[in-house]
Amino acid sequence: MARSLLLLAIVATPTPATDFLVGAAAADVTPPAGYRKAGSYQEVFGETAADPILAKALYFAQGDAAGVIVVCDVCGLERNLTRTIREGIAKETGVPVAAVSVSATHTHGGPMHYDPIFVELFAERAKAAGKEDRHHLGDYPTKFVAGCVKAAAGAKKNAWPATLEVATGRVPGLTFNRRYVMKDGTVRMNPGKLNPDVVRPAGPVDEDLPLAVFADARTGRPFASLCSFAMHTTTYGGPAFSADHPGHLQTELRKTFGDGFVSVYAEGCAGDANQVNTATKDPDPTPEQAGAKLAAGFRTAKRTPSTPSLAVRSGEVPAPLRDDRPGDVARSKDILIGERSKKAGFLEQVEAYQVLLTHQMRTETGDKRPLPVQAFRLADDFAVVTLPHEVFTAIGQEVRRRSPFKHTLLVTIANEVDCYVPTAKAFEDRGSYEVANSPYKPGVGELLADEAVRLLKELAP
Ligand SMILES: [Zn+2]
Repeated sequence: MARSLLLLAIVATPTPATDFLVGAAAADVTPPAGYRKAGSYQEVFGETAADPILAKALYFAQGDAAGVIVVCDVCGLERNLTRTIREGIAKETGVPVAAVSVSATHTHGGPMHYDPIFVELFAERAKAAGKEDRHHLGDYPTKFVAGCVKAAAGAKKNAWPATLEVATGRVPGLTFNRRYVMKDGTVRMNPGKLNPDVVRPAGPVDEDLPLAVFADARTGRPFASLCSFAMHTTTYGGPAFSADHPGHLQTELRKTFGDGFVSVYAEGCAGDANQVNTATKDPDPTPEQAGAKLAAGFRTAKRTPSTPSLAVRSGEVPAPLRDDRPGDVARSKDILIGERSKKAGFLEQVEAYQVLLTHQMRTETGDKRPLPVQAFRLADDFAVVTLPHEVFTAIGQEVRRRSPFKHTLLVTIANEVDCYVPTAKAFEDRGSYEVANSPYKPGVGELLADEAVRLLKELAP
């Protein structure tokens, strides 16, 4: 029997005269030296931090409505971990779990303490070799959760009457579709610069930068912002921990808005988009340059004052998992951390990872994964949608195109594990990394878009 969509939360619409309270806060969740680092299929460790790893929170309240948006400088998160954090935040702030979002910026310079597969595999391997499993180094997983909750509680404590300005800026020439149709008919991710076998990009880019600026209603001083951009957070390639370009965006915006300004940056629908321009030999932007380009798009956006009208809705999408491949679990472990790993190719490792992830997801929640989707209306012309996973750009564009709001901002890798959600069409491609790295059947991206639009329409003025 098909499961019907479940509406989790209905928060009352406030009267327009009620104060709009907004607070922002950040907590430092930089891991200890020697902690495990994200961003690859190997076990690597970070000895230093190029810049702080932060959990940033925005708290909103107006009348009976309230919401919290937390974005962390990590590559991914995991369902149970985000649930723990969201419940902790609900307890501390009184905001219902359904109106709390916890997401990852997807920085590949972040710590790796959340991955449901590698955390187990690395622990097994360490135990077998009689070595220390660094997962609990400095009690980091516990401290991370506490940091996220602390940021949200701090944001509520800081909340004061605020005004709102909104815009959709543009950042041209920074993000590129990273999947290319090749002459042999396959689709390849990052095929290399000036590759003569490239025919065309396999999908679109979204250069829009939806943004909101919050200012103290009494002094007019801006104190925080929220924006998102559809590009992988992969400009940092060094060995240290780093927040990557979202950290540099905040540094830039503080030049405009002053010290203490909190810039909350979320990754938009960037499953198939990154900063690599294959059409030129020129080097790709550094984190500083990417942060500066985003800041330029932010500053030049024509912001307009908007009347706050806070409301939050949330729903669920029953997302069908792809078929399990029984018997593959032991072999997949071997490909990832055993003897076979020495000779395994990248796509083979990705496939092996997905065998384990799909199996685990099915064990956890059955054949249809109930995926969380949220919509936050901040004003009659501005809404925020949160989606789980790394969603392809075309899906995000569809949500924004069908949204009844003038400005729609997408936050991805929210409240769920990190994996890909390609378009249904992309599943027909041969050789695609993102399809190999998806636990789902075709069509889940389109289901997520439909649910997001349904929630937005409920909130439409
Ligand atoms: Zn990714």
